[in-house]
This record gives sequence, structure tokens and C-alpha cells, in this order.
Amino acid sequence: MSTSRVINFGAGPSALPQGVLKKAAQGLLNFNDTGIGIAELSHRSKEFGAFLSNVESLIRTQLDVPPTHSILFTQGGGTAQFSAVVLNLLARHRLLYPDLADEHRVMDYVLTGSWSRKAHDEARRLARGARVNVALDARRHSSDGVSFDNVPPHGEYAFSRAPALIYYCENETIDGVQFSPDPDARTSFPFALLPREPGGLLPLVGDHSSSFMSRPIPHLSEHAVIFAGAQKNLGPAGLTILIVRQDCLVDVDAAARLGATPVPLCLSYRLLAQSKSLYNTPSLLSIYITGLVLEQMRELGGLAYFEALNRTKAEKVYAAIRAGEKRGVFQGKVQAGSGSWMNVVFNALGDGAEARFLEGAEKAGMKGLKGHRSVGGIRASLYNAITEADTDTLVQFMEKFVSEADS
Ligand code: PLP
Repeated sequence: MSTSRVINFGAGPSALPQGVLKKAAQGLLNFNDTGIGIAELSHRSKEFGAFLSNVESLIRTQLDVPPTHSILFTQGGGTAQFSAVVLNLLARHRLLYPDLADEHRVMDYVLTGSWSRKAHDEARRLARGARVNVALDARRHSSDGVSFDNVPPHGEYAFSRAPALIYYCENETIDGVQFSPDPDARTSFPFALLPREPGGLLPLVGDHSSSFMSRPIPHLSEHAVIFAGAQKNLGPAGLTILIVRQDCLVDVDAAARLGATPVPLCLSYRLLAQSKSLYNTPSLLSIYITGLVLEQMRELGGLAYFEALNRTKAEKVYAAIRAGEKRGVFQGKVQAGSGSWMNVVFNALGDGAEARFLEGAEKAGMKGLKGHRSVGGIRASLYNAITEADTDTLVQFMEKFVSEADS
């Protein structure tokens, strides 16, 4: 069997560093000298326990997670968290304001793309009398009135007074829209405008699934919950990482006795924290590979290294799109200032151009460039494992495509 590989620009599950995969193959046979492979090992073994707590500390130190927040590991992906954040934070709201009528409980959603819209739809399913307020719908500010192609300016947000949660998706994987990391940018997330609770806390929930560990998280310590699936920047699918502020680890049964919706035990943040993420069997293999990736990240220089690298990669691809736009060959799908570093989306213009682009790319050893089926076009996902050299290969192919279309 050949072990040769293509460059995988897919949006997830995505490429992983080759060196790590080779090391992981060893761990599949014999994990840390236990004589047992990682996929065969008990999650209650002391060796796995030690590995898991090291994974936690690799995230805590690199992302600068303060002691006010727990780092938890679970399953079910971002999709399960669409439900879990609603149930846990409505329970918290119930405990904070037990006498409030349900119609006065509000959840604020910021819609900047397909994933935040999906999370919003799930909140509506689970709201049971509470209100779901759209604090912002970026489609209203789009170039065609229907697509998600921008992050609107701060003046466009309308938050509620004391919401149970404020929800946003940091990087919209399908639409290629991301908040700017520069706090002064017009397209940054409007942290200063958020409605605080009497104690000064924010019930802020961020879906960081497709940008987690690609650069520092602005205002991390002010978040109630941050969640991310591992399968973009860190490891195989099957692991979801949560960063939860400790006041959000609430007694969901006590809340249910006051009228809140009962929370399935596997979705309770408090139970997960109390059991040190081992209430039920976790995805050992995914945690293992994630740990190896995090170790390699630390050796390379941590988030400062990846932030600089990811910025450079994205700038190169956006520059190639702009050069193609001038010749009428490409068209970026996202407005200036809102483009994602992780998922760069664009169209190849003209009859059959997109198919020619994808076919040519595949011949040149690049896969996974087809846009999501709901929006079409081309999508280059530039997660951490995509190197600058991989990016250069794509950019050179784009330049050649433009010059051939031109001639
Ligand atoms: N949120 C974002 C931003 C995503 O990109 C995805 C999946 O790609 C999800 C949520 C859903 O994650 P999962 O498929 O792990 O449930």
C-alpha cells in the first residue's frame, strides 16, 4: 500500500501533521510503554489519566485559560453543544432569576453564517417559552441580501437587557466569514457593547470549532462557554473541547425543580467537570492524537507561531484571489475585512471554470477544495497542519490558472 499523500485542503475532518501521525501509529500499538494500544486502553488507567491532564495543561498554557475556567472534554461535536449551551445556560438563568416569567427569558444570537444559524434554530427548538432574539443578522448587510458574506459594524447589533446567553460563531466554516482579531477593526466582535449581569459577568458563548488553537481568543476570560470540535486544527473527529467559566457549572436538577427543562446527564457541564471529563468513556484515540498535536504546537512556539503562520497563509491566498479578480477569473465571496483565515472561499468565473479548477488542482496533488454543497464555489481550508509550502503550491496553481484563462 502506498503511503504517499496529497495536500488536503478539506474543511474537516482535516489534515494532521505527518510527524504526529507517524508517532500516533506507534501509540496505536503500544501507548506510553503500557504494552496496550491507545484504542484498547482503559480510560480509567493511570497512564491515560496522566495523559489527559497533560492535554488540559497544554491547552491552558498555550491559550492562556485563567483558573476561573474549567477545560472539559466531551463528545457529540459542535452540534451537541448547540443544544448543551441552551440547556445549561437556561438552567443557570433559572437559578439566577427563579421568579422571572418564561417569556422574559431571552437568548441572543448573532448570525454571521450557516453554523450560527443552525445553532439558533436549535435554540428555538429547545426554548420552551423563552424567546430567541436575533441580535444581528449579517444577511441584511450582504451584497445580495441573502448570503452570509460579511461581519457588520458594531452599530448594527441589538442585544437584549439580561439574556440567558449571547451566542456567536467565531469562524463560519461554510461561508468563510470570521471576526477580526484586531479589536479596533470595524469587523471585530463588539465585546464592549455586550449587556453585563449585575455581578459584571457575561453569558457569552462562542463556537470556536473551526478556529480553535489557530490564534489567541480575544477576551477569552469573559466568556461563559467556548466550544470546539477537535477535527479542524487538533485531531480526529470524536472529541469536543469546552472551556466553561465555573459559575456556569450549575446544578441542572435544582434548576429543573424550579421549572427549567431537564438536562440529559451527558450534556451537563457540572457533571462533566465533577467527573474530570470521565463520566462516560471518552474518545481515547482522538484525545491521544490531539495531545500529540498540542505537544508539537508547544515545541514550535505555541499560538504566537501559529497566529503568524496562519496570517501569512491567508494573506497569500487572498492576494491570489485579488490578482485573479483583476483579470475577471476569480471572485472572492466575502466582503473586505470579514474574510476567514481558516476557510477562504471564492468563485472561479466562466462556464466550466470551477470544474476545471478542481480537476487541475487534483492533478497537481490538492484535494478538498470544493466549496460546501449549500453555497458552492471553491473553499481552501488553511488549518494549522497546512504548511506555508502547501499554501504556496495552491497559490502557484491559482496564478497559473489565471494566466492560462487569460491567454
Ligand atoms: N460549528 C462550526 C463552526 C463547524 O464548522 C462545525 C462543523 O464543521 C460545527 C459547528 C458542527 O460540528 P460537528 O460536526 O462536530 O458537530
